[in-house]
Amino acid sequence: MDLHHDAVIYMDNNATTRIAPEVLEAMMPFLADYYGNPSSMHTFGGQVGQAVAKARAQVANLLGAEPEEITFTSCGTESDSTAILSALQTYPEKRHIVTTRVEHPAVKNLCENLDRLTGHKHRVTRLKVDAEGMLDLEEYEEALTEDTAIVSVMWANNETGVIFPIARMAKMARERGILFHTDAVQAVGKVPISLRDLDVDFLALSGHKLHAPKGVGVLYVRRGTMFVPFLTGGHQEKGRRGGTENVASIIALGKACDLAAERMEDENTRVRALRDKLEEGLLASVPRSMRNGHKTDRLPNTSNISFEYVEGEAILLHMNRYNICASSGSACTSGSLEPSHVLRAMGVPFTAAHGSIRFSLSSYNTEAEVDFVLAKMPDIIESLRQMSPFWKGN
Ligand code: PLP
Repeated sequence: MDLHHDAVIYMDNNATTRIAPEVLEAMMPFLADYYGNPSSMHTFGGQVGQAVAKARAQVANLLGAEPEEITFTSCGTESDSTAILSALQTYPEKRHIVTTRVEHPAVKNLCENLDRLTGHKHRVTRLKVDAEGMLDLEEYEEALTEDTAIVSVMWANNETGVIFPIARMAKMARERGILFHTDAVQAVGKVPISLRDLDVDFLALSGHKLHAPKGVGVLYVRRGTMFVPFLTGGHQEKGRRGGTENVASIIALGKACDLAAERMEDENTRVRALRDKLEEGLLASVPRSMRNGHKTDRLPNTSNISFEYVEGEAILLHMNRYNICASSGSACTSGSLEPSHVLRAMGVPFTAAHGSIRFSLSSYNTEAEVDFVLAKMPDIIESLRQMSPFWKGN
């Protein structure tokens, strides 16, 4: 297979990120020379165990948590499933769960399959969002009942970048004795998080969204929160998650968390400026284009723009000719012709939802790349509109 990576303008970082060179360097020895099993009694394995312990402390430091609250998993999806299923097993008599209409399929599809997975009937409340993608906290408050076992609300949306008020929502759940889980896969490394100061019981993150490899994730479980493992088996992760550790990727994730803790503030300022330049430039140069999602309560790297009367997939194909990588909706929903459930929940009209493109930047993007995209996009959209039977000019 011919592979290429030359001159790619990569603006699809909410789908996945490149591994930071420092992260790659940190993990390589554990793929080559240090292959011992961290659970082994001998020194050769023991030193690997110590490296895993260091990575756990690095993750905990980024999250403002304690190392023993960190469990390594295989991905964000596993962490989300584990948290929710643990809560339902902890409180088998409670049959209600509160979530939102805009969750990633990792939570959305789990909630659709709960009855099959648990053998019990559940009631799921999916909170509405407004046109800017924001939740109504009054609706949330009314949704919380004595029968609610867990709330699962994402910290930041993968399609629009909209950030939810997790601190307040977790507090409201705690006051009613309800467990609170947040899917923070898109937030970790992009917004400061201090779990010590929050009433969050579970948090999910994923390595490949913050410049570590694919196939490693974390589930944070607050000290004192009852926990029922999803993968039983060996005694790894203090019995919280069976299966020999993905050592090299765990070391990588630890390093990635260190880099994020060190650089987040400066990088966010730079990335936000690039994102804003891109967004403002596109909205100004392409008629009938609009931003999806709240202007300020949003991740600094994400811009979701609708170009009315054109198909997102067609736009992506044209962008691909210039090696510009972005996404139409979430990577998981592209491939289906349905517009994204997130944009539909926000009430974005069909003509605009179909033509939405998500640009998601990282600290590896440059101003020259933004200028290049700004130079190409107006012509791409214009040429597609000329072919559209619905386009009658601006
Ligand atoms: N949650 C959110 C918000 C995501 O964006 C993603 C990945 O796109 C996931 C969960 C799933 O993470 P993973 O790919 O590690 O399973």
